[in-house]
Order: sequence, then C-alpha cells, then structure tokens
Amino acid sequence: MTIDMKDIVALCKRRGFIFQASDIYGGLNGFWDFGPLGIALKNNLRDAWWRSMVIAPPLGPDGSPVEIVGLDSAIIQNPKTWEASGHVGGFTDPMVDCKETKQRYRADHLLFLTPLDGKSVTIKGKQASAFAFMQGTSNEEIKERLKKLRVNKEFVGTSADISDLLAFTSLENVNLSETVGPDASEPGTLTPPRQFNLMLDTYPGVVRDEASKAYLRPETAQGIFLNYKNVLDSMRVRMPFGIAQVGKAFRNEVTPRNFIYRSREFEQMEMEWFCPPEEAAQWFDFWVAQRKQFWLDVGLPESMLQLRKHDQDELAHYAKEGLGTIDVEFQFPFTAPGFGELEGIAHRGDFDLRQHSEFSGQKLDYLDQINGNRRYTPHVIEPAAGLTRGVLALICAAYRIDPNRPAGLYLDFHPSMAPVKAAILPLTAKEDHVPTAQKLYMDLRKEYVVELDIKQNIGKRYARQDEIGTPFCFTIDNDTLQDQTVTVRERNSMKQDRIALHKVKDYLKQKIR
Ligand code: ATP
Repeated sequence: MTIDMKDIVALCKRRGFIFQASDIYGGLNGFWDFGPLGIALKNNLRDAWWRSMVIAPPLGPDGSPVEIVGLDSAIIQNPKTWEASGHVGGFTDPMVDCKETKQRYRADHLLFLTPLDGKSVTIKGKQASAFAFMQGTSNEEIKERLKKLRVNKEFVGTSADISDLLAFTSLENVNLSETVGPDASEPGTLTPPRQFNLMLDTYPGVVRDEASKAYLRPETAQGIFLNYKNVLDSMRVRMPFGIAQVGKAFRNEVTPRNFIYRSREFEQMEMEWFCPPEEAAQWFDFWVAQRKQFWLDVGLPESMLQLRKHDQDELAHYAKEGLGTIDVEFQFPFTAPGFGELEGIAHRGDFDLRQHSEFSGQKLDYLDQINGNRRYTPHVIEPAAGLTRGVLALICAAYRIDPNRPAGLYLDFHPSMAPVKAAILPLTAKEDHVPTAQKLYMDLRKEYVVELDIKQNIGKRYARQDEIGTPFCFTIDNDTLQDQTVTVRERNSMKQDRIALHKVKDYLKQKIR
C-alpha cells in the first residue's frame, strides 16, 4: 500500500497535528506549527527519549547502568562557538558537490539541459535525463561533451542547433540521480545543493554591526561541549558519561521540503557520550544498537528501519577519522522504497573539545584520578536524532487505510505515543449518561490524557478518535446505569467488550506501557 504524503498533510491539518506556520498570511517556507495533538505527540516522543537517556538509561556492556545527565543550553551562544565548531567560515552559497570528481559548484552557476521529448539517453548503462554545464559553456562545447560521453549517436546527430536536442531547465526540475555533472563521466554523482553557511544570524543588543552578529544554533550539540567543564565541576559524574539535550535548532536549508522532514526550524534530541579514546569503538556499537531499539520501542516497525554506514565521502569534517557515522533510517512515503535519515550516530573523536579548548584557552580534558592521574581529552560518540522528524516517522508508520470504518482510516500509534489514550463517550447527551461519563473522565484524567466527547452521533465520534489514533473508547449507555459496566472499543480490531466501570483504570494501566 502506498501512502500519499498529501493525505498525511491533510490529516495533520484536519485533526490539529501540524499546521503551516503563519497560515493566515500564506505561510513561510520551511516553518511549521504544532497543533494541540501535534504537541502532545511530540512531547510523548521527547519524554520517551528523555526517559531512555536521563531518567532510566540502559545498562552498559558491563551490566551496570550508564550515567547521563540533562542540559538545556541557550539557543544563542557566543559566536566564537561556531568558529570553533567549523560552522562559520564555510561558504555562504548553495553548493553542489560531485562525488566522482570532488569538484564543488555554486548551484546558481550551473546550467541544466534535458533531452527533448522521446529522446532516451544512456551513459555507461545508466539512464540520463539531464546534463549539467557551467554557465557560459558554448553550444559547440556542449555538443563536444555529449559526443565524448558517447550518448547514442541519433541523439547528438548532425543538428547544428543545440536547442533541437536539449531544453533548458532548472535544478529544481531535474532528477539528480539521472543527471550528469559538468565534469562527470556518468549520471548520479551530483549531491543536492547545500547552503554551506546555513546558519541564521541575529544581532543581540542595540548595535547592528558585524561585531554584534550572533547565530541561532544549527545543532544542539555545541551547547553540550560548551558545558562539558561546568558539568564535570558541578556534578558527580565520572568517565564515561553522557550529557543529553532536547531543543530547537535552525538551519537555513536551501530547499525545505517533504512536510516537516526538512524544515528551517526543527527540534533535535542529542546526547554526547564522553569516553576514554580506547573505549570509543565499544561505545559506538553499543549506542548504535540502543538507538535502533529506541525507535522500535516507540512503535516504528523493523521492516521500515535500516542502519546505514556513511561512505567516506559523506562524512562530516569531525567524523573523517575514526569510526565514522551510522544512520538510523526510516522508510518515509517520499523516500520509499528507499530510506531517509532519522538519526545519526557519529564518532566525533576529540574534535569538539580540542577545538573549544583552543579557541577559548580553557582546559577541556579529563583527569582520571582513579587510574593513576592519567590526563586525556575524551572521545565523543554522538547519537543525534530529529524530534520533529521522528514525529513525522511516527505518523507515517501509524497511517492505516481501512474502508471498513467510518473515517476510512485510522492511526495505529503505539499506546505510549498516542496523544489521547482514551475517549469517554456518553451514548447520548441526555439522561444520566453524561454525569457518569464526567465522573469517569475526572477520575482518569488524573493519570492519563483522556477526552470527554459528548456531541455528535457515536459513529462520528469513533471516526474522530480513529483519525487521531486513540487506542481505547469507553462508552457509557443505559446498561452502565443498570450494572456499572462500560463498552470498551479497541481501535485496531474495533472489537467491543464489556468491562466493569471500576476496572477501567486497571485496564488502561495494563494496556498502556
Ligand atoms: P540531512 O542529511 O538530512 O540534512 P544531517 O545529517 O545534516 O541531516 P545532523 O546534522 O546529523 O543531520 O542532525 C541530526 C538529526 O537532526 C538528523 O538525523 C535529522 O533527524 C534532524 N535534522 C537535521 N536537519 C533537519 C532539518 N532541516 N529539518 C528537520 N530535521 C532535521
């Protein structure tokens, strides 16, 4: 079954999960608002992550619990932070890299040409549907190059005018996996454009000049490195240990797209795990396994997840040496049958602490008093996940089309993630159904997010609960008043059972873990 993203976006709006930011003004590209149910879902995912990291972290390879503390650092830090981290000083334009030739092009300096209708081109056995050239390349040079690439003879032909063969188009309209780069020998070697200086800037204070320029953080990680020493000095942590943080990050993405998958404002859940250099490999494997398990635990099916090791040429500057990076990827509807990144687990070595130590002049190493006062700069393993991207994965994985129910669909959230755990539905708005329902509602809401829904016929109310993924509905009817039982309807099976009113709480407790 293929799911259309349009349907997911429509559901999210219709049922109050996610709205376009500034909707009434026509929106703002790359920004989204989380509605009442969206924030509930996001908080559930965030809380599960915080629990799995800070409150009840896993047992380490030696069987004892690992130690991780929390942090909430400022979004805006001293701009030197981003010089040290390598975020400043890059390019300020969208750039396209060629994986084959290692050439880097300014995206707006490239020219794209596609064969006119019906012309099919193969290069080295691969389909090519576009060619990139540097702006200013002459028609003669273009023809020469096509010949060199040995595209089918009929295609280059004898035509004098290149416009008989190829039409101009823009980067947005080409399929990069079928595009031949300006210096490449086969299609598919160009990366999507990346704005290298992707940081959004701002000017705190009254003066607006270069000296007062600061940045909205493009990742939460650096705030953790800045506080490494504070945490060591104030908490009773010993190596190895972790610092975890959840919060907003901002990137001036060149092409925000695929709903909240790639936005300019988003949330991350990052943990920096500090350990002795010689233990890095062991902890890297440990965290990769833990992080995959986390996504399974919140309800993503195994069949839609995969681990993928970065190729050497994709690695970030801090991960070039060492153990590299492994991504946890999810099969989003817009990547299927392929996968898209949900989280990256990177071995950052001692890059960040060394850089910040150099730029700040502060010692950011570790003195191991237990092991002979050995002094070293710890290595870092970083599981960096997208919270907002995770929310999208939860919604996509839960989306079920089912013509046999009133809404035609339902969301199969894991009960622990569902924004509403149960709905209490008095059969009619008259008689004594309502007071009994109210009483149950007041009792349950002390422990669970529950909804009391009185209006409309019962079918419509079930339909709404299906669409927001509520796992259980309790209906109060005339029998309830007679024998103190309620009907419980289970979302996925739509099976209805009768249980005692006083057992409802235990029932929920058992089902929601
Ligand atoms: P991508 O390759 O998709 O741009 P990245 O490798 O740059 O991502 P990281 O810097 O490793 O991403 O950030 C960690 C996580 O933050 C990603 O796995 C992703 O879930 C999330 N993330 C990164 N950029 C965005 C964005 N623009 N919108 C939403 N989530 C994002």
